[in-house]
Amino acid sequence: MHLLDFLLPPRCGGCRRVGAWLCERCRASVRRLEEPLCPRCGVELDSNRRECGCRARLPSLTRLRSAVAYEGPAEAAIHRFKYGGWRRLASPLALLLAERLVVEGVAAHWVVAVPLHRDRMRQRGFNQAELLAGELGRRLALERPAGELVRTRPTPPQVGNDRRTRFANVKDAFAWRGPALDGRAILLIDDVATTGATLDACANALGRAGSGPVIGVSVARVNV
Ligand SMILES: [Zn+2]
Ligand SMILES: [Zn+2]
Repeated sequence: MHLLDFLLPPRCGGCRRVGAWLCERCRASVRRLEEPLCPRCGVELDSNRRECGCRARLPSLTRLRSAVAYEGPAEAAIHRFKYGGWRRLASPLALLLAERLVVEGVAAHWVVAVPLHRDRMRQRGFNQAELLAGELGRRLALERPAGELVRTRPTPPQVGNDRRTRFANVKDAFAWRGPALDGRAILLIDDVATTGATLDACANALGRAGSGPVIGVSVARVNV
């Protein structure tokens, strides 16, 4: 934790007002995803559709669920969390996600975070998904498996890429280093999901290492 965290009063990641890391007003105005959602990948659907056709695109994830839309105060807070180093936002952001998972009845044995490549980790100093996984694990009493999911090669940022490029970018970019995963269900955490390409590539690596179902979860969802 940074020394600055102790010296500065909490300031809202959504609107910058002093008082809390995510103020009541921003918490209330964050847009939760609304039904109907795709039963597999959790994307918001038009009311006349039953699913989005994600089965072929996301073969390794059992399910994907996100708490809120990536817009408004949630977008501002995640941006400050990830790029501005406001690490304390891990707690209120994980709370948004935990609330959603409880409503959805999502359960798992282990929690694993989407890893950064070591070069990016060195640059940023922390992995935002790892901080979220720590908070979420505490709240939902999930364990960490022995071993580590790693990003085996640097992958270009996904922002601005079309769907096909996003999937090509992360294909075979992850590996599990550690003991076999014993058929246990895993909650796989990221901060933001768009196509689900990164989460699915991670789920593939976990599956190859013997995991049970992998449920991808993200705080926010970009609708594509
Ligand atoms: Zn606020
Ligand atoms: Zn879907």
